[in-house]
Amino acid sequence: MKAYLTCDYCNQDIQPDPITGWAGGNNGWPLEKSGAACETVCNVCNDLVIMERLRRATGEDMMDAIKDSVQGVDGARYGRDDD
Ligand SMILES: [Zn+2]
Repeated sequence: MKAYLTCDYCNQDIQPDPITGWAGGNNGWPLEKSGAACETVCNVCNDLVIMERLRRATGEDMMDAIKDSVQGVDGARYGRDDD
């Protein structure tokens, strides 16, 4: 019997970890799909979970500030149009 858990986000089988053999997936909180909480997610989608946790922890304002600062760096690097 080889019944894998299914990722609540991408619906793929959750493969056992190659090192630990753990096949229980990752806690998907607070990721949601179509308004439904994802309780268990695969390793790939766990990256999205971490980003969502970060976004919630820092808030939208902080993410906007990060984006602005990144754009500011790009502007400083490429914005050398001397008229
Ligand atoms: Zn997944």
